[in-house]
Amino acid sequence: MIRIGRRGVLGVGLGAAAGLYFGTGVAAGEWDSYPFTLGVASGAPTPTGVTLWTRLAPSPLEIDGGLAPRALPVHWQVSDDERFTTVVQQGTAIAYPEAAHSVRVDVTGLAPDRWYFYRFRCGRALSRVGRTRTLPAAGAAVSALRMAIASCQRFEDGYYTAYRDMAARDLDLVLQVGDYIYDDVFTTGVHPRLAEIPNHLRATATDLQSYRLRHALYRLDPDLQDAHAAAPWLVIPDNHDAVEDGDPALLQRRAAAYQAYYEHLPMSAAAHPDGPSMRIHHSVDFGGLARLHLLDTRQFRDDQYVCGTELIGAACAALDDPQRSMLGANQERWLRRSLGRTGAAWNPIVQTVLFAPYDFAAGADREVYYASWDGYPAARQRLLDDLAATRPRNPVMLSADWHTAWVNNVPADRNLDGPPVLTEFLTTGISSAAAFTSNLTKQSLPENPQVRFYDENCGYTLCTITASQWRTDFVAADTGSRDGSVHTISSWVIESGRAQADQR
Ligand code: FE
Repeated sequence: MIRIGRRGVLGVGLGAAAGLYFGTGVAAGEWDSYPFTLGVASGAPTPTGVTLWTRLAPSPLEIDGGLAPRALPVHWQVSDDERFTTVVQQGTAIAYPEAAHSVRVDVTGLAPDRWYFYRFRCGRALSRVGRTRTLPAAGAAVSALRMAIASCQRFEDGYYTAYRDMAARDLDLVLQVGDYIYDDVFTTGVHPRLAEIPNHLRATATDLQSYRLRHALYRLDPDLQDAHAAAPWLVIPDNHDAVEDGDPALLQRRAAAYQAYYEHLPMSAAAHPDGPSMRIHHSVDFGGLARLHLLDTRQFRDDQYVCGTELIGAACAALDDPQRSMLGANQERWLRRSLGRTGAAWNPIVQTVLFAPYDFAAGADREVYYASWDGYPAARQRLLDDLAATRPRNPVMLSADWHTAWVNNVPADRNLDGPPVLTEFLTTGISSAAAFTSNLTKQSLPENPQVRFYDENCGYTLCTITASQWRTDFVAADTGSRDGSVHTISSWVIESGRAQADQR
């Protein structure tokens, strides 16, 4: 019988009071505590496969999830039906302590454009059932794509009402475009869920153990678990998921952040981080209907603080350095190729920060948000020039980061009321409060005619895409309680061939 003894002393300031021994054998099938506490997930779908994820963590808010440092076998199954009467694939994966006993299975050999069900078993413990799908075959005619976009889910700021709503919808994909976790915890001010965060989890995450615990905290949320179990996800991290600064002193921390992110999200094994580096940018084809170009705006950006230490301020001359890059030369080249070779009817560019120019100063002065594309004007212009040169059909910019919802006309240059060449839909936060930026943004909105919609509710963005039309619904979610309400606050449509959205 395998004994799964917990590491003797849990000390390390974790205040592990209850149960000093987690002691029954997996071979005998007995678990004293249920190991699939963090749910199941799927992601990175292809036409013939999908990545399945779970993690063994009987005590998820303790170091190592309450498990001894030994590898454990986990059986997985993929089925055509929810009752698993027809198992189409199965196998055994190993949950390694080096990966926090996370389990990742890159399933291949599935049929295109099909829904599947999956589950895991370890000993006699059985996970919940997840639902996932493969992508349509390359170039295939597809009637519609329904996807939700999520970002910025600060745990202490509110409930994941938006995810509860997503889980109840029939979505083909969920995009999570950053701040899946926050490395820090806000302990002053009003934060409805702060009491749910144990004291030992309140310090800023800086090493692998503390990043793992942060992910476990977030992942215990039942609405988030339901959304993961309902559809495959595509994910790109933003600044709070990992340290973006190129400072070598922070590289070790970034390596820890990436490792924990990878361990907890359903990315394919190809995304395995290499120290402080992780391959994040990639494209995903949903048949011939849409190519999603997912970008990495943090890992390769030039220093965002060339004008000073503030986040928002005057546009200094250093910003105009033509060498400044948001994506880095390799990714810029990759994106140009991806845009040049796509035959898809729609070409959303999925990235984390505000793309349209925005002037925060009243009157003739100009102030910009340095972390956005306004801090990298030459790089933004190169991207716009690449779009003009490669002419992909129907490009759409999808962004996040600002904890509010926006629709922007993107002009061809910094002329704010110039004719749009592209529409940007910026997704609000799932739960992160807008307080910090609210006044600043609202004061300057009248000076920015390119902004056509701005709203401070939390929630998510729902996109319904057909060959002839892109529809975006902004869904507002009340994050103040577990049973908060959800409603659509604004809907926009882009007809194929047009750059500008129309409100519906
Ligand atoms: Fe955020």
